[in-house]
Amino acid sequence: MQKRTNVNLDNIPTQQFDAIVIGAGGAGLRAALQLAESGHKIAVVSKVFPTRSHTVAAQGGINAALGNVTPDNWQWHMYDTIKGSDYLGDQDAIEFMCQEAAEIVRELEHFGVPFSRLDNGKIYQRAFGGQSQNYGEEQAHRTCAAADRTGHAILHSLYQQNIRLGSTIFEEYYSVDLLKAKDGAISGCVVMNIHNGEYQILQSPNILLATGGAGQVFRTNTNAGINTGDGLGMALRAGYPLQDMEFWQFHPTGIAGKGMLMSEAARGEGGVLRNALGEAFMEKYAPHVKDLASRDVVSRAIAVEVQEGRGCGPNKDYVLLDLTHLEDKVVKERLPGIRDISITFAGIDPVEQSVPVFPTCHYMMGGIPTNINGQVIYPNAQGQQETVTGLYAVGECACVSVHGANRLGGNSLLDIVVFGRKAALTISENLKSHSAVHLEHDKDSLEQIRTRIEHWHDSSAKEQTNNSEQNTSDNVTQIKKDLQAIMERGCGVFREHSLMQKALEELPAIEARLQEVQLSDQSDIFNLERLAAFELENLLAIAYATVTSALARQESRGAHSRIDFQERDDQAWLKHSLYCHQTRQLSYKTVNLTPKTHKPFEPKKRVY
Ligand SMILES: Cc1cc2nc3c(=O)[nH]c(=O)nc-3n(C[C@H](O)[C@H](O)[C@H](O)COP(=O)(O)OP(=O)(O)OC[C@H]3O[C@@H](n4cnc5c(N)ncnc54)[C@H](O)[C@@H]3O)c2cc1C
Repeated sequence: MQKRTNVNLDNIPTQQFDAIVIGAGGAGLRAALQLAESGHKIAVVSKVFPTRSHTVAAQGGINAALGNVTPDNWQWHMYDTIKGSDYLGDQDAIEFMCQEAAEIVRELEHFGVPFSRLDNGKIYQRAFGGQSQNYGEEQAHRTCAAADRTGHAILHSLYQQNIRLGSTIFEEYYSVDLLKAKDGAISGCVVMNIHNGEYQILQSPNILLATGGAGQVFRTNTNAGINTGDGLGMALRAGYPLQDMEFWQFHPTGIAGKGMLMSEAARGEGGVLRNALGEAFMEKYAPHVKDLASRDVVSRAIAVEVQEGRGCGPNKDYVLLDLTHLEDKVVKERLPGIRDISITFAGIDPVEQSVPVFPTCHYMMGGIPTNINGQVIYPNAQGQQETVTGLYAVGECACVSVHGANRLGGNSLLDIVVFGRKAALTISENLKSHSAVHLEHDKDSLEQIRTRIEHWHDSSAKEQTNNSEQNTSDNVTQIKKDLQAIMERGCGVFREHSLMQKALEELPAIEARLQEVQLSDQSDIFNLERLAAFELENLLAIAYATVTSALARQESRGAHSRIDFQERDDQAWLKHSLYCHQTRQLSYKTVNLTPKTHKPFEPKKRVY
């Protein structure tokens, strides 16, 4: 492609802040609130209006061992989370998260989250998968809920609190890439105003990535279109690895063929999965907890029922989520959002009829590796973990790692607020000891970003579009669809060497098409095509990370379920993977099995 555009990053507006939070979901807004409360000059950047961030879609609730419905304590929560993670979660991080949970929920309540109530006035708590009392015995009720719109309530409350404190929010600004100083420390980021296509540098020695998940890498998913893993792409391009990218959660109950989520809350309130014979088949797979086994277990059970011919419908390709035996009041008062979604997208009122469901990509367990303080870490030349000066990550884009190989429902909302607050406290502490010193951006760092931006501007130049030698039939939307299909075929609920290998071999063709594609929108005003191109570069990098990591891991653990290696192999694989974008190679690091106050939980066979 011929070079036509000149973007001069040396001469664009720059604004300076003590700290910049990229992302205005639950993680970003909780962090921003903490920083603003401490009196720092901060900016929050979001590619959508903050309350449209994906946290708004979270339905079922947030976990905390309040013990309002069943006896509970943080140690049981910790055990369940470690077991749910198939022992890949770092036990020190899980311990910290579970210890903080009760205070975090009370704090949210004080911020204004209207949690549902029990008759005695305490916060209502529902049962979710993988929750137990007394280290694996009876079902616990640990998920605090605001009906089935918990994320909506949390996000709006956090947004209101940020407005109260006057946080500066760059709404509908797209963060393109991170800037580094000569010594490798983070020095800022380049953002684009989506309204007019103008670029700006936001300069700060403290950047916190809170850019959410990347479920858009799979064809059928429960995620919003904005979940394109931009923070992961930025970290990879800046030279940092991604951790545990082979682990993607497939939620058992997406609306069949569509993907919208029917929250686990539906089974928590008593919903039952049935096959074409009307059997409540989870009894076979998880005799003790049945429909409330952890998500990886339930998703595999559904896939097996369908594979073995007991699926429902004309193509026998889904199972049914049955809520018809529940009192109407339970569905209408505790699950109103789910009922709405089912009526809107499946044309079915779950009070009257069962809903067709099938596993759908939902959550990314992997992400940017961090320590408990939210500081991004990477292995140095000696293989020791070092922190990246000035770079932090929290929420779904980060891997701290509290979810290991499989996340328990209700633990992500907890993760985002616990570590959002913790990272902000760490930044704040640093700012107390030495106020923000703005570093000069390294020339190479600026040059790399300039080249990337100019490429996409040149791709939309008029002369290029009219060049008949170029393939003008291809477009970003189609390339994205093809990428998603490759990922779904190669890296779905069940995985196998030849399918993953094929996916890996198909990715270079996608890469070549993306490199060559021309954008038909030439304007700078709300150029969503250019935005989609930036996003697709991130999704493609994530696809490489996922397939490479999954192909290498020769075992089945949590959500990574291999037909050709069906057992978990702790001897060889009780370790985190680290994927490097520049070399496309993997390295590994140990799992933390030494919590600070509780005795360690030794890996055991996981039975529900
Ligand atoms: C349908 C659904 C239901 C769920 N229900 C639950 C539940 O009940 N309980 C639970 O614990 N978990 C649940 N989850 C998971 C949980 O909601 C998410 O993991 C969590 O909300 C992610 O929060 P976050 O703050 O990390 O990211 P998000 O809320 O996704 O926010 C990401 C932010 O980053 C911004 N951003 C991204 N890229 C850029 C860029 N390049 N430039 C500028 N800004 C950018 C976006 O604008 C947005 O503001 C659910 C998930 C889904 C999909």
